[in-house]
Formats: sequence, structure tokens, C-alpha cells
Amino acid sequence: LRHVCSSRQQRRLLNHFISKEPEPTEQPPTPYRFTLAVKDNIATTSSSTPSPQPTTCASPFLATYHSPFEATIVTQLRARGARLVGKTNLDEFGMGSHSTHSAAGAVSQPPPPPPNPTHTHTHTHAPDSNHAHNHDMEGMLSAGGSSGGSALAVATGEADLALGTDTGGSVRLPAAYCGVVGYKPSYGMVSRFGVVPYANSLDTVGFLAKGVRAIREVVLGKQGLWGEGDGRDPTCLSAAARRRCARGREGYGTPLGGEVLRGLRFGIPLEYNIEELEPGIRDAWAAAAKMLQDEFGARVVPVSLPTTRHALAAYYVIAPAEASSNLAKYDGIRYGARDTEAASDAAGGVLYAASRGKGFGDEVKRRILLGSYTLSSEAMDNYFIKAQRVRRLVRKDFNRVFALDNPLHERETFDLTDLDESIAMEDKWGPEEVDFLLCPTAPTLAPKLADVMKQTSVDAYMNDVFTVPASLAGLPAISIPMPVASTAGDVVRSGTAGLQLIGQYWDDARLLAVADAVS
Ligand code: GLN
Repeated sequence: LRHVCSSRQQRRLLNHFISKEPEPTEQPPTPYRFTLAVKDNIATTSSSTPSPQPTTCASPFLATYHSPFEATIVTQLRARGARLVGKTNLDEFGMGSHSTHSAAGAVSQPPPPPPNPTHTHTHTHAPDSNHAHNHDMEGMLSAGGSSGGSALAVATGEADLALGTDTGGSVRLPAAYCGVVGYKPSYGMVSRFGVVPYANSLDTVGFLAKGVRAIREVVLGKQGLWGEGDGRDPTCLSAAARRRCARGREGYGTPLGGEVLRGLRFGIPLEYNIEELEPGIRDAWAAAAKMLQDEFGARVVPVSLPTTRHALAAYYVIAPAEASSNLAKYDGIRYGARDTEAASDAAGGVLYAASRGKGFGDEVKRRILLGSYTLSSEAMDNYFIKAQRVRRLVRKDFNRVFALDNPLHERETFDLTDLDESIAMEDKWGPEEVDFLLCPTAPTLAPKLADVMKQTSVDAYMNDVFTVPASLAGLPAISIPMPVASTAGDVVRSGTAGLQLIGQYWDDARLLAVADAVS
């Protein structure tokens, strides 16, 4: 401001912004109906929790940050009877797949009990403590990430419902690893106001619970969240856009029962049957498809989403690019903890670099460097622009296989000139149009935390291979628990994996009804 206007103008401008600040909405006390845990990248204030807690994003930079306002979603849930029981641990700023990149230490879960337990081992993770359970890491499993703390909070019964954020799978993946339900709504359905951004074009608020019912209740029940816009989040759909999207969609306003399953068509995306898929998960996926046919009379057909194999690479260009821009504001001056030693140094650049050097963890720094590079003039065309192109193709793939149109896009006739030569299409056209896609949430069961610690970052990125396509296209997706007995060599690993259902944009009501009926 100093560079562009006089101090009178500055004051006027500031007043303008200040008067634009949202009015704090006084909530009438609502009778308590359920307990809620909130991922610690979602803003809460002293009115959200009995004792004020910071909103840290698991980052040293924000260790003492107290938000002056509450995220819209928290206000909305409190108005529906939620009692906030705590903030949950995560990967710093939501960047990660195992909730290990946290200033509070790694989240971990005990392995499932042996078939005939001689003792019951309960290892609970207080969702409000944000404390790591680093003792006895031996044998502990990854809780998935980045909403690992939220998934554990519902798995251990410490909260009935938990909020997470899902940018590329961070609600669905931990749900799969922890044996709970994780739902990512259509992009723009739930307000992101008060959610610390990671990659705005992908970020969504997601819900975790033991069963689908609790989630359906808040999203679609009487006063369901699906109908509520928020002017403070420009990407949150307005009331008019919501009405337009719901047109021709079932389940908005009219509750759907289990009979919604009759005559549905489910697509099995062939490209999801990758080599790295754990055999037990492949078997459980096939068993789920058979169950849909036998018990619900559904039709299950193979479909092709050829751009899938490029989706992960595109995601890991787009998400870090947006992150590098978002995180530029943490400089120790405007936002974030200042490095006080460097602060005494006269040169501002030193303060900036020192604060960012201390304030961010390694994975966040890696993303900032990646993003700054792919947005640089020399690399932009080869990375960011290409990734955006892949993103469009991913969306087209989905629009081609779904029977319903995407209300946000014109129905596109598939244009081959738009394709990369490397994407062979002709042999993969399928005439089938389906209602939902059925696939695993992750290629493996929850890995051992000790193994995760040895992984390279790229190994960890692989976990997101089945979740990022729906994120790139902004589609609703849900992970429901699926029992698995897996044989790797002569070791039998059993446990719960995630079965993922993906729907067309704004087909959330049917998606939740179907997930409820089959889980
Ligand atoms: N694991 C992915 C990432 O690190 C997804 C994270 C998320 O959805 N917040 O970017």
C-alpha cells in the first residue's frame, strides 16, 4: 500500500477492507447431538471449543496461531448440534499421505488384532492432543494422510464425525487405512472459508465417520449442507448454481432409500487394475462387484479412463504450484512465526529466508521448490501448462463414461486433436455409460510406519494414484471399508481396505445413498 497510495488513501482502503470483514454470526445455542473432531488446518476460535486452541496446520510456522474467525463449516456443524471435542493431527498444511510430516510427530495406529486375540490392546489417540505416539513405533501402521488424526478420532470412537480436507485423497486414503468412511463432496459444495488453503482449485472439506449414515444426515438430511452457499468462499456454489446442478439429480429434497440401487450401472475402470495393486485388494474389489450384481441386481461393466495414468503426475505439478503461491504469505512478517534472531539483522531478506527455513518442514519446502520451478518461465510450458491439459482430459474421460452430464460443462464430443500422441484411445472406447465408478481407494493396505519412514517422497505420492483423478475433475467420491485377506509371499495380511465409489459432479445424494446401502 505504501508504494501506491498516500496514507489517507491507505486508511480509506483499509477501512474498506475492514468494513468488508464478515460479521461474526451469533449462533443460538443448539442442543448437542454429536461429537466432532476438526483437522487442524480448519480455523476454530474460542467459541468453537471450550478451551481456545490454535489452528496450527501441524506447522512450526503457525504453532501459536489463533484464528480471529471460525471456518464456516465449523459454524454450520455447531448449528446442527456438533460439540467440538478437539483438533486433529495432519501432514503439515495437508501435504502428505501418511500424517508423518507433522510438527506434532507422526500419527500411528496399532495393527488389527490377530484372529484370536489373547489380550485386547487399545491404543487410542486423543484427537485434541495432537501428540505423537512415538513410543512403541514397532509394528505400528500408517493411519494414512493427510487427515490421519481425523480418521483415527472416528475409528477410536473419540468423535462421531470428523472433518478433514481432501485435495488429492486426504480424506479417502486415511479412511481406507483406518477402516472408516471418508467422503469428499463435489468441489464447491462445502464452503472452504476458514480452511487454510493448500491447492485452491482442488481443496475440498471432507467428512469421516464410522458409517455413511452420520455423513448423509449432515449433508443431505433436513437442513442438509448441500443447499447452503457461502459468499465468503468464491468457489462455493451460489444458491442459484446449486439449484441448477440439482436439476435432474435424484436425492435432493427427496430422501433416497436402498432401492436406489436397482438397475444401476457400475463401471470398473480398467486402468485402475495396476501391477502394484495388492492381490487381496484386487480380490476384494472383484468380490464387491459381484455382490453388487448378485444382491442388488446392478450391472457391472468395464470402462476405460485412459488419462488415469497421467493424472498422478499432473496432480503433483498442479498441487505444488498452487501451494508455492499460497504459502508465499508465510514470511515471518505478515504471517507466521518470526525468526527472532534474524529479526535483529537489518536486512529483510535474511529475516524472510530464516523464518521460512525454520518455519516449514521438509516436505512443505520440497513442494514450494517444485511449485516455484514448474511455474517459472523456463519450465511453465513443459509442466504447468501440460498438467492443466491432462486435467482437462481427465475430466473428459469421466464425462464420457458417466450417464449423467456434468452440469458445469457442456457435453463434449471427444476431440482427438486434443490428445497427446502418447495416449492411445481408439481401442479403448466403451459405449457403456455408467452411474458410478467402483475401484479401490489405495493400492495397498495400511503400510507399516517404519516402512513409510524409509520411503522416498515419490513412493509416498504413489498412494494417491486412485484418489487424485476424482480430485482433478472435482467429482464426489467416497471410501467405504472393505474387508481384505491379502497374501504377500507367504505372509497373510488381513485388514480393511477402502472401496471407492466415484460419481458424476453433484451426484452426491445418490452416491451417499448407494454407499449407505452397500456398506
Ligand atoms: N497426498 C496428497 C498430497 O500430498 C493429497 C493431500 C491432500 O489431499 N490434502 O498432496
